[in-house]
Amino acid sequence: MPSLRFKVVDEAFNRKADPVEMPAESPERYYGKQVFNRQKMFEYLPAATYEALTSAIDNKRPLPREVADSVAEGMKRWALDNGAHHYTHWFQPLTETTAEKHDAFVEHDGKGGVVEKFTGKLLVQQEPDASSFPNGGIRNTFEARGYSAWDISSPAFIMGRTLCIPTVFISYTGESLDYKTPLLRALNSVDRAAAAVARYFDPAVEHVRSYLGWEQEYFLVDEALYSARPDLMLTGRTLMGHESAKNQQLEDHYFGAIPSRVEAFMLDLEIECHKLGIPAKTRHNEVAPNQFELAPIFEETNLANDHNLLLMSLMAEVARRHHFRVLLHEKPFAGINGSGKHNNWSLGTDTGTLLFAPGKTVKDNLQFITFTVNVMAAVHRHNGLLKASIASATNAHRLGANEAPPAIISIFTGTQLANILDHIAKSTNDELTDLADKEGISVGVNQIPEILVDATDRNRTSPFAFTGNRFEFRAVGSSANCASAMIALNAAVAEQLTEFKAKVDQRIAAGETLRHALLEEIRALIISSDPIHFDGNGYSDEWKEEAARRGLDCETSVPLIFDAYLKPESVAMFKNTGVFNEVELQARNEVKWEMYTKKIQIEARVLGDLAINHILPVATRYQSVLLDNVYKIRSVFAAEKADSMAAEDMYTIERIAEHIRIIKEETAEMIRARKVANRIESEREKAIAYHDTVLPRMDTIRYHIDKLELMVDNEIWPLPKYRELLFIR
Ligand code: ADP
Ligand code: MG
Repeated sequence: MPSLRFKVVDEAFNRKADPVEMPAESPERYYGKQVFNRQKMFEYLPAATYEALTSAIDNKRPLPREVADSVAEGMKRWALDNGAHHYTHWFQPLTETTAEKHDAFVEHDGKGGVVEKFTGKLLVQQEPDASSFPNGGIRNTFEARGYSAWDISSPAFIMGRTLCIPTVFISYTGESLDYKTPLLRALNSVDRAAAAVARYFDPAVEHVRSYLGWEQEYFLVDEALYSARPDLMLTGRTLMGHESAKNQQLEDHYFGAIPSRVEAFMLDLEIECHKLGIPAKTRHNEVAPNQFELAPIFEETNLANDHNLLLMSLMAEVARRHHFRVLLHEKPFAGINGSGKHNNWSLGTDTGTLLFAPGKTVKDNLQFITFTVNVMAAVHRHNGLLKASIASATNAHRLGANEAPPAIISIFTGTQLANILDHIAKSTNDELTDLADKEGISVGVNQIPEILVDATDRNRTSPFAFTGNRFEFRAVGSSANCASAMIALNAAVAEQLTEFKAKVDQRIAAGETLRHALLEEIRALIISSDPIHFDGNGYSDEWKEEAARRGLDCETSVPLIFDAYLKPESVAMFKNTGVFNEVELQARNEVKWEMYTKKIQIEARVLGDLAINHILPVATRYQSVLLDNVYKIRSVFAAEKADSMAAEDMYTIERIAEHIRIIKEETAEMIRARKVANRIESEREKAIAYHDTVLPRMDTIRYHIDKLELMVDNEIWPLPKYRELLFIR
């Protein structure tokens, strides 16, 4: 009887690319077709309503109640015209996915029939009975209601056949229960703080926007193979599997030709993205086999983040159409690269200046240096917190493993920027010309553009890199909600800029010139934030020691990394920027620890089941085949000859027995460790126990299973192997 494994491998390897239904029109025509954007608003709303809505959006004001009904009516008509008869408030609970509860537009018409109706009240605010969303104790069961409220800065869209309204999700008492609320607060706070500083350079600036361009990495696996791997299905990663003889050594996958099945998937996905107004632009193979990347054009952070979440759901759906499963886990396969989601981040004024881009004039460049140095100072001050913002049970497999950003946050600037900063720090006059000749650096601020624009060198080992006109926060995990990183980063920078401005203003009040005041404060920041600046190899062991000497946060245990959120300086920063109060921070950490525990708990259970029910039976079966062979050799050949003939099998039998023994013992120990941990009351302590006592056993069990995979007859091995999972044809 052919095993399930051979059946699914056969199925996967014989699959052809699925045809893609190409839209009749060009992308220019169908882009944003499923989005209630300004063009649709204009078409479907009365003129006065259109004015009121767009002005509320532009001025970041709530939608006036009196126009809500009219907006809802227009939106409903648009939805019905496009085949959507249901609507949902679409929100981002603390689960790292999105949540939706669909309602039909239907209402009784009073004559025994129904009418399709949608009111302003339903559009603007709902009370999802969401007591089963993670809330870290904020929402007691007696007050289980939460509010979801429309975020008008992010347009409604149609996904499938449902009108989706992006909303924030808060508790009855006003605490945020989602990612969007604090993200909007952080963006407001960085807007205010950065605009105040930007006005030193251009008084016409009213607002500063934060921009995000994420690069989403992912793996694809054939659905037949996926369905034969319970670990992939239940945990998103392989909990066992020996490395394939060939994986990424030849470096032949990165930017290689895209397999036709994958290309069909990508094309289909891009069409869907464009219909939903997600500006997908770049696609390519990544470093590991079966690993790919999609990047859009950057957008305002709140919208970009909604789009990333939307993309992640879309990917899952489109992948199924192509008989693939998409893996967003940070480390689906051991031994090859994991997936991240680089967050390209910048700030820009409403007058059109990118604040981390060198400009053409001395003033522009002083502005560029001002903002860049303040980011460095903020990242330095909150490096532990920024690490906590990207830490998770799944991302932990990637960080610090030798291919991804290390578990220490530092900033890469590249030599040119480093020279400029150095020059400014050492210079004693405000024209910055005094050191130019002595040190051979001819980089007065007025010369920055030529040397920086195309010359930013690349350092892939840095978790946070300056890349010419933006910073790239590379440590973010592929499955994460980017908001977590964006909240911490934008808030930390807002705090820093506010303090900077206060100090500069003080100097000006004392009679200093603006330029002198700025340069003095910039110099102080360059010197004080020097420890965060590291252009060397972030993967090296020397860096770990060096970073510890510099006082950077080097904690590697995820449950302990989360403590950074509750440090006094973090609590103060989030309070001053209005992003989180202490209750919210406490509650969110409870959720983080709980999630951590649950993820490891599920993995440990799946691993235990697979070890006992899938692996040990075939190992024993194979052992018994060998024993049978030895027995027969002995009954046919003379003792001495039989001894030598059976020696190899005997040795293998003993090794198998040893692996089996250890797997059984360690599995029992792992279960015991879990039971002990489960009895711990405190979420923090429980997560620590899972990290310290359950995780290490999982590694040991895997090690021995992977050894067995190399020994046991290929014919009877039950799970698709890495070499079968990893090479799409
Ligand atoms: P690479 O792989 O070289 O890092 P990609 O082209 O894959 O570059 O991705 C770069 C991402 O950075 C894109 O999403 C792009 O839109 C975004 N980006 C470019 N400039 C900015 C900026 N000023 N602010 C934010 N994101 C940006
Ligand atoms: Mg890239």
